[in-house]
Amino acid sequence: MKRAGFLFLACVSAFINGCDNSPRLYKDSRLMMGTFVEVISPEEKAAAIAFGEIKRIEGLLSKYDPSSEVSRLNSAGQLKVSRETYDIIARSKEFWALSNGAFDITVGSLVELWGFKDKKYYFPLKTEITQTLKRVGTDKIILDPVDNLVKFAVSGMQIDLGAIAKGYAVGCAAKKLRENGIKSCLINAGGQIYCLGLKSGKPWLVGIADPAKKGISGKLSLVNKAVSTSGDYEQFFIKDGIRYGHIFDPRSGMPADSSVASVTVVSDDSLVSDALTTAIFVLGEEKGRALAEKFPGVEVKIDKEKERDKDGK
Ligand code: FAD
Ligand code: MG
Repeated sequence: MKRAGFLFLACVSAFINGCDNSPRLYKDSRLMMGTFVEVISPEEKAAAIAFGEIKRIEGLLSKYDPSSEVSRLNSAGQLKVSRETYDIIARSKEFWALSNGAFDITVGSLVELWGFKDKKYYFPLKTEITQTLKRVGTDKIILDPVDNLVKFAVSGMQIDLGAIAKGYAVGCAAKKLRENGIKSCLINAGGQIYCLGLKSGKPWLVGIADPAKKGISGKLSLVNKAVSTSGDYEQFFIKDGIRYGHIFDPRSGMPADSSVASVTVVSDDSLVSDALTTAIFVLGEEKGRALAEKFPGVEVKIDKEKERDKDGK
């Protein structure tokens, strides 16, 4: 999502510099969670507060950090985790149930099979997918709330919080900023955005990246809102003219192919907007919008496949 994030940023900064007598805005960015995290605020201390909170959560939930709780759980198959990690896994189970299995954090084994973890893309055999699906299914995650114990019912399962933890981290950073009296800030973690308060007395303006990479496909005016976008126009490979993206349908073991090119969700809750975009991308427009209705107040924007030309680019 790096380019989309940058695209977002480009749009945001264009809007920011609109009027010349607005207070100075401090901007800082850092590579975190495998993407660029940018913080924009009239308060100089905002960036350090946001980065600190995101770093803390990355240390708990990153499958790329061998010392994280998620990595230790994935290698041991069971682990007593912190209440925080336990709660995000429990919340992921709710999204799994509400989305009829379209949102599923146990896709980790599929993400690895198709080579999306280390970007060494691979087109697996049918038998390899069938084999791997034996280790997929959030119903195979056993939770014991007394000890915050998480246990996998099948050995070799892998959880991957890529579709929900960025939203969670950005949401926690916004909460931390509020607790520190920060009233105005935009956090952008690779397209996962939270707009806190007003920017120089006006809503923050955010551009939605066009999946056909022709600039932006929409603008949003946001105050105290989170916005996320999911799509397969950043992380994908092409085989025989067909695009295979990083968002999987856990029921088939194949990259999702619901004729949706990108989904954008606006919500009060950054975790909800992140998880919903991935679920809707898998479910497709009709079932996706029905799922979104279970979350009062969220707005959904869907860009369909037709924008892209035939050779998958
Ligand atoms: P989303 O649609 O929000 O999520 C898609 C991702 O979710 C996929 O990439 C896959 O990981 C997973 N997924 C796929 N299908 C499903 C499904 N059906 N249900 C649930 N989940 C699914 N990337 C790196 O390259 N290096 C890093 O060091 C790194 N560290 C990270 C640390 C953290 C804490 C997190 C959350 C992510 C990290 N990433 C890293 C991943 C990177 O940020 C991804 O690009 C990102 O997670 C994908 O998010 P998205 O918003 O593009 O897509
Ligand atoms: Mg997501």
